[in-house]
Formats: sequence, C-alpha cells, structure tokens
Amino acid sequence: MSYQPTVTVVGSINMDLVVSTDVMPLQGETVLGNNFATYPGGKGANQAVAAARMGANVNMIGAVGGDIFGRDLLQHLHNENIDTTAVHVFDSIPSGTATIILSEQDNRIIVAPGTNGMLSPELVQNHKSMIKDSDVILLQLEIPIETISYVASLAYDMGIPVILNPAPYQKLPSALLSQVEFLTPNETEASSLLKDPVLDILREKMIITQGDQGVVIHQNESDITIPGYKVPARDTTGAGDTFNGALATQLAKGKRLEKAVMYANAAAAMSVTKLGAQSGMPMKDEVEQFLQ
Ligand code: ATP
Repeated sequence: MSYQPTVTVVGSINMDLVVSTDVMPLQGETVLGNNFATYPGGKGANQAVAAARMGANVNMIGAVGGDIFGRDLLQHLHNENIDTTAVHVFDSIPSGTATIILSEQDNRIIVAPGTNGMLSPELVQNHKSMIKDSDVILLQLEIPIETISYVASLAYDMGIPVILNPAPYQKLPSALLSQVEFLTPNETEASSLLKDPVLDILREKMIITQGDQGVVIHQNESDITIPGYKVPARDTTGAGDTFNGALATQLAKGKRLEKAVMYANAAAAMSVTKLGAQSGMPMKDEVEQFLQ
C-alpha cells in the first residue's frame, strides 16, 4: 500500500445559499425566483474535501456556528472522512455563508464570513501538534490574515511545507511570502502578485493555474507549461479548489513538483466535467484511471 500522507487545511467553511432567478432584482425591488438550494462550500472546506478524495488523511482547522448550517457543515466534513476535532463551534455566532443569486446573464454573491472571522491565531495555537504531524499545510485567504501569517510562520519553524492559495486576492506581507513553499494563484491573482517586486525573486514558488490552458511553473529560471486537458467543461466552479487539494496530497506524498502538478491538473480537469464545486470533485481511483 502506498504512503497515506497527512494534509492539514486551515481555512474557511461556508454554507453556499444559491437561488436562481430569471430576473435580477433592481434596487428596492423584490422578484420571485426559481430554485433554492444549499451546498457546503468555503475554499478551506472545498480543498479539504478534494484532498480527502485524493486519499490523504485530512485535518480541518476552522470554525462554524452553533446554528443548523454549522451542524450540517460538520457532518458533511465528517462524511468525507475529514478529521473535525479542530473545528471550533461558536454557539452564538452564525456560520459563514455565501449568498449567491444566479441568473442566465449574471451572478451576484455576498459572503458573510461569520465564524470564519473568529479563527484567530490563539485558537490555532491549540493545534500545534496537529500542524507538526502534517506532511503539508494548505491555506487560502478566507480567514484572518494574522492567522494565515501565524500558521505559515509556525509551520516554517517546524519545517512543514505550506501551500498558500492566494484567493480571494489581497496584498500579502513579505514575511508570509518568504515562509510559504508554494503559491497557487490563478492568472488574475498572479498578475496582481507579480506587481510585488519580492515575487519576482520568488518566482520558483509560483504555480499559476490558467483554466483550460493548464498550469505554469517556474524552474531553473524558465517557465514550464503543463497543458490543460481537453475535456467537455460543464461547470468550472471549484476547479481551483480541486487543483489545490490534489496538489497538496501529491506533494505530501513526496512527489516532485512537476509530477504533482500534472496529477492535480488532471484532477481539476475532471472536476469541470461535472456540476457543483464539491460534488464534481473526483476520487483518487478515477484520476488514476483517467491518467492511464
Ligand atoms: P475556480 O475559481 O473556477 O475554482 P480558478 O480561477 O481558481 O478556478 P483556474 O485556473 O480557472 O482556477 O482552474 C484551475 C485548474 O483547473 C486549471 O489549472 C486546470 O488544471 C483546471 N481547469 C479549469 N478549467 C478547465 C477546463 N475548461 N478544461 C480543463 N481543465 C480546466
């Protein structure tokens, strides 16, 4: 049996509230919509699910509310075989939500961070041993930046590699940039990041995803493009999250960067052929079959 790596995700857990409508309401207007549905989401939880489906032992460090969404979100992570002992429950604070209004022409989204905003360095400090026992730490930017910086510095001192998916984009402190092993921006995030002269020096850390074009990495002072797979794309939501979860698992297994990226590129391509962020994420065996 191959080595089962441990990936710890420190990140957001949200309930996505999705309503579809034929017409977007204008200012002050109420319209009758079509279907309403809830889906577990949040970049942290999505990437944790992707890593678990790729065969890693996954720990989630995060926070939910004591509301019905919080209970559902915990149960869902549990059903995906993710260790939730480090998910804090804040009884009197609402869980994070993303309210999404979908129409044929447009979508509008409001994210209310809720308990994700409560994930402080002090809370994470209780889980130092979980971080120490990990092969890879996976971070995104939907929790407070102080916490991200704290985890990166802790992991750096422990010699545990950190992958930071810099989404949604914000300007990052130089100390954080120097402590992460890899950054995984999409093209838009990469163009913002590369305005920072520090990253010109740190190009080797950048793994840039480019949608159907694939992925670009930088080794020995030159760019290497790993082309995207030609697949019938139905829904690209969660492609980036699938990529990150799969990449973390492969690097945690000790795979070399180029091999790990090739695998994650395949997993992410498979995810776009199915509807939904988490529901479209493939299992390890399916990716291995696809790669044969
Ligand atoms: P999202 O926000 O939609 O989750 P993203 O903007 O973070 O995605 P992308 O660069 O669009 O990230 O996609 C991530 C990876 O998913 C790509 O590098 C590629 O491996 C795969 N991918 C995305 N779209 C396609 C597609 N149409 N065909 C094949 N692979 C795709």
